[in-house]
Amino acid sequence: MNIAVRTDKVASTQLPDPLDHLAHKLFHHMGTDGVYARTALYEDVIERLTALITRHREAGTETMRFPPVMNRAQLEKSGYLKSFPNLLGCVCGLHGTEREINAAVSRFDAGGDWTTSLSPADLVLSPAACYPVYPIAAARGQLPQGGLRFDVAADCFRREPSRHLDRLQSFRMREYVCIGSPDDVADFRERWMVRAQAIARDLGLVFRVDYASDPFFGRVGQMKAVSQKQQSLKFELLVPLRSEEQATACMSFNYHRDHFGLTWDIKDANGAPAHTGCVAFGMDRLAVAMFHTHGTELAKWPASVRELLGM
Ligand code: 5GP
Ligand code: ZN
Repeated sequence: MNIAVRTDKVASTQLPDPLDHLAHKLFHHMGTDGVYARTALYEDVIERLTALITRHREAGTETMRFPPVMNRAQLEKSGYLKSFPNLLGCVCGLHGTEREINAAVSRFDAGGDWTTSLSPADLVLSPAACYPVYPIAAARGQLPQGGLRFDVAADCFRREPSRHLDRLQSFRMREYVCIGSPDDVADFRERWMVRAQAIARDLGLVFRVDYASDPFFGRVGQMKAVSQKQQSLKFELLVPLRSEEQATACMSFNYHRDHFGLTWDIKDANGAPAHTGCVAFGMDRLAVAMFHTHGTELAKWPASVRELLGM
């Protein structure tokens, strides 16, 4: 009896994940779960998906590309620590005198811990692509009629190690962002929810769009998540990669109301606090979803999908 129970336990913890079979074709391990080198096969698909999303960019959208790091004070001011302190990665370095830095290195050489000498820099790893765009827009003064639209992208980091190929610590995010009146943002999100589903359909993905909430930290966070759902502030396009119940969010459609408008003092054309919204494409999740759905032999992908991606 005991033995049978134990065997069951071992079997369940070692159950292979439905995405595991993709690993050797798409990634090379780099020593840490959720941080992978990417194969040429994988990057080729990432580039084609990127180009596809670019082709859908609305006229009058300004493009910016961000580095993987951003100003720490800007992210603090955005309220990130109130919502997701557990996910943040902060840049730190050896900032002391030559003597202090040498002492830290000597400690390492002697088998000790050099990291106790680290102190934080003024940079964090960007946890989403759109955070830096709001202060840039704010510096331009009052918004024009119709608001502003941006095309942004960044390598993003979230500290949530996992062995699942659709939960990376370092992943690429592409976003279209709207900053304007409440109506500008509502229209923008409505348009993109329709357009994004057409893109997913064209890509041959099985999906559903559902109300969603962000993984707010702690018990207070659970209340924030309920309220976010009740107010329909977030939707996700979910692809059932491992199961219907635990479908993977490959895109999200977010309405921040006046949060960033108030934070950065952005005024819409009527002088009211600007509202903002964004549609985020998880490029790595989309690529993994494509390989999971159509296989790792590109020549066998459906003709319509190959044509859409210019293969
Ligand atoms: P959100 O800000 O809505 O959490 O993230 C936007 C998009 O980034 C998600 O819909 C998803 O596609 C992608 N994303 C979020 N977390 C992860 C992750 O852990 N791994 C990967 N590969 N993509 C993620
Ligand atoms: Zn965003």
